[in-house]
Amino acid sequence: MIACFVESPETMAYHMGTMVKISTELLGRLIALANAHDEEICGLLLGTAERIVEAQLCPNIAADPAHRFEIDPAALFAAHRAARAGGAQIIGNYHSHPYGSPMPSVTDAENAAPDGGYWLILGRGSARLWRALPGDGGRTRFIEAVLATD
Ligand SMILES: [Zn+2]
Repeated sequence: MIACFVESPETMAYHMGTMVKISTELLGRLIALANAHDEEICGLLLGTAERIVEAQLCPNIAADPAHRFEIDPAALFAAHRAARAGGAQIIGNYHSHPYGSPMPSVTDAENAAPDGGYWLILGRGSARLWRALPGDGGRTRFIEAVLATD
């Protein structure tokens, strides 16, 4: 089942190379968690380029967590350390938009490093997956990837 939409045959072709799988159970768990919070939840996506295997919830240390997220650096550091020690690889992050859609916000684009990492955004009862890639003028642009549940 394909949980996201593509806009054109051209982007479809692009997306086919960036299809990422996630279990229905894990995606449902993340959406339920997001729905249960009025503030943005956030965390790290663990797995491979082809599959989100696990999602690690992290503290949101943003000053205004109802509208912003910032993953606790200590949690990020610990996850990188675990990955280097042979644990699950960090492939991106996730956060929720409690009052919004699962589209990247202007703030998200400003804060995202154009490193090819995946951004899973949870709206109210929905989720879409994006990749943060280099755009014009050193900015980051988000390209949607296909999130395939199984
Ligand atoms: Zn956002």
